[in-house]
Amino acid sequence: MPIAICCDFDGTITLMDTGKTLLSKLTKGDWQAVDKFVIDGQIGTREALIKQWGMIEHTTWEEIFTIVDTMKIDPSFYDFYNWMLQKNIKFLILSDGFQKYINRILENHEIKVESLDILANDADLVDNKLKLSFNTPECEHGCANCKYSHVLKLKNEGYKIIYIGDGLSDIFPATELADIIYARNNEDLAKKLEADSKLQVFDSFSKIKEDIEKRFL
Ligand SMILES: [Mg+2]
Ligand SMILES: [Zn+2]
Repeated sequence: MPIAICCDFDGTITLMDTGKTLLSKLTKGDWQAVDKFVIDGQIGTREALIKQWGMIEHTTWEEIFTIVDTMKIDPSFYDFYNWMLQKNIKFLILSDGFQKYINRILENHEIKVESLDILANDADLVDNKLKLSFNTPECEHGCANCKYSHVLKLKNEGYKIIYIGDGLSDIFPATELADIIYARNNEDLAKKLEADSKLQVFDSFSKIKEDIEKRFL
C-alpha cells in the first residue's frame, strides 16, 4: 500500500506558528481567548479565524511580510524534503494559514513551492483589513480548511496515512484517519493524544524519516 504524508505547516515545518506570531504583533486584541473556545469545542476554526484576523484594525503587506520574513523552517526539514522527493513519496501540506505567507516562507528558504502540494486558506487586503478566503466549503466541524476532507480523500484512494502536526486543527484528521501520527513534542496535538496508540512524539524530522523507513519502506 502506498504511503501519503500529510503535514501541517505552522509550528510543524516552521519552528514557530506564523499566524500566532502575526496576531501577537499586529493586534492587542485577545485572540488567545478565541483559541480557548476552539479547544473547548465551542466554535470551529473557521469562526475563530474570522474573529482573530478581524482584530487587526489596519495593516499592510509590507508590515505582514516584515514579520513573515523572520519565520524559520526546522533545519531538519530540508533533508526530509529531499528524501521524499528522491523516494517519490506523496506529500501534502495542509494548513489553516494563508497561501501567501506559506509560499513566501518556503521561497525564503529556497524550497520550490511548485514542487509541493499545498492546501491552505488565503487572505487579501481590503482597505487595509485582512479578508480571508477559505480552502474548503463549510463542513460539519466548522473548519476553515477542512484537513479531514483532504486526508479522507487520500485514504479513499488507498494510501496509508502518515500525519505530522502540532496543533488543534490536526487533532481530528489525525485521530480519525491516520495510520500513524507524529506530533511535535509538548504542543497541543501531542498533549491531546497522549493516550492514542498511534502517537509518536517528535522534535526533528530526521527521527520521523528513520521511523517511516523502518515501518513502511
Ligand atoms: Mg500547526
Ligand atoms: Zn472539517
